Amino acid sequence: MTSQRRFLIVGGGLAAAKLAEALRENDFDGVVTVIAAEEHLPYERPPLSKEHLLGKKAFDEFIVDPAQWYRDHNIDLRLGTTVTAIDRAAKTVTLPDGSTLNYDKLALATGSTPRKPPLTGVDAPNVYTLRTIDDSDTLIELFGQDGSLAIIGAGWIGLEVAAAARAAGLAVTVVESAEQPLLGALGPEMGAVFADLHTSHGVDLRLGAQVSEITTRDSGEAVLANGLRLGDGSTVTADAVLVAVGARPNIELAADAGLAVDKGVLVDESLLTSDPDIVAVGDIAEQSHPLLDRRVRVEHWANALNQPAVAAATMLGKSARYDRLPYFFTDQYDLGMEYIGYAAPGEYDRVVVRGDTATREFVAFWLAADNRVLAGMNVNVWDVTDRIKELVTAGEPVDPDTLADTSIPL
Ligand SMILES: Cc1cc2nc3c(=O)[nH]c(=O)nc-3n(C[C@H](O)[C@H](O)[C@H](O)COP(=O)(O)OP(=O)(O)OC[C@H]3O[C@@H](n4cnc5c(N)ncnc54)[C@H](O)[C@@H]3O)c2cc1C
Repeated sequence: MTSQRRFLIVGGGLAAAKLAEALRENDFDGVVTVIAAEEHLPYERPPLSKEHLLGKKAFDEFIVDPAQWYRDHNIDLRLGTTVTAIDRAAKTVTLPDGSTLNYDKLALATGSTPRKPPLTGVDAPNVYTLRTIDDSDTLIELFGQDGSLAIIGAGWIGLEVAAAARAAGLAVTVVESAEQPLLGALGPEMGAVFADLHTSHGVDLRLGAQVSEITTRDSGEAVLANGLRLGDGSTVTADAVLVAVGARPNIELAADAGLAVDKGVLVDESLLTSDPDIVAVGDIAEQSHPLLDRRVRVEHWANALNQPAVAAATMLGKSARYDRLPYFFTDQYDLGMEYIGYAAPGEYDRVVVRGDTATREFVAFWLAADNRVLAGMNVNVWDVTDRIKELVTAGEPVDPDTLADTSIPL
């Protein structure tokens, strides 16, 4: 009798859970073990800075699968367990107690960790980051205390928390070193739309401002943060500080095992790493993207949701490639948006707007110099993502005036 094949998944987020699902959907009947550092069932993170933080969604509503699903599908889910090493020659991973587990195929889905810049005061107990359900619950408690919050960084998470904190009645200051919020993701034109959104909702938005220090006071029991000092010497007073300056992918395990890494774990079109028995998915995967003709690492929900089906096929020896365009969304106050495509700042020629940015109901298109559509973002306009995707994937020049004309169907 041949022994059962053993597939190991390291990580306990959306990508890990979707991969376990995809293996069973592909009728894989061998052993599937998921080793997850967090104590919680795998869950989706977008609500942590939106509906959950706003008190509109409980944890159970955004877990990927209930505990019973793992039992029903014979998934060996080991929560609260961090893999400490991979031995590729022996095809084993090491667990915290020093024991090892062997694998036939291994998947890495270790996600990201918030960056914490080495600022004075950053280790004070009321300086927070947001990545996990526990972090989100801590912020909810803070929101109940009617105070003020200083947020370092006007990226997606900084801005979403700012919106939720304003809804909870807190005074909010957001400090951003760039000249516009979301500059690296959207560029200055659309960054300005988000700047207006937040200032019109009462956020004190300090752009082009460096934080030089998190100021502290000794409460007698602890040294607590009480604000920020900025590069120009000015100060911000706050009862708590959120550091939201981006996340770094958890690639040490892969790098230590000698896998090829750069900004993430390098994977080919089929999500295979430099080791033919190891795939990587989600935030850590830096993929040679077949449509974009470049390497991309996408730190977004849709990527963690959709890559696992391809990775499962690859683990099972089937031919598959991941060629979806990057897609993401945000909700802030009454603004909902979706973005699809890829248009890094400095790599597009101009932004064409269809609709009205003042009323925040429009579609923005990022065009190349030859008028190809690189990406599109619909703001409070719905059911157009498929059409935008068609325009991006067609790779054909468009007429910018026609694109901007709302009387002509998209
Ligand atoms: C607050 C917040 C809001 C977001 N909002 C949006 C949004 O609106 N739209 C959007 O598109 N994206 C959003 N994202 C991004 C999206 O959630 C991520 O891209 C997605 O979670 C990535 O999934 P993942 O499974 O790759 O990694 P993760 O979700 O980070 O999961 C990785 C898991 O692996 C575990 N792990 C790490 N190392 C080990 C180890 N050695 N052993 C065992 N386990 C390990 C980690 O503890 C973690 O639980 C948001 C993220 C956050 C934090």
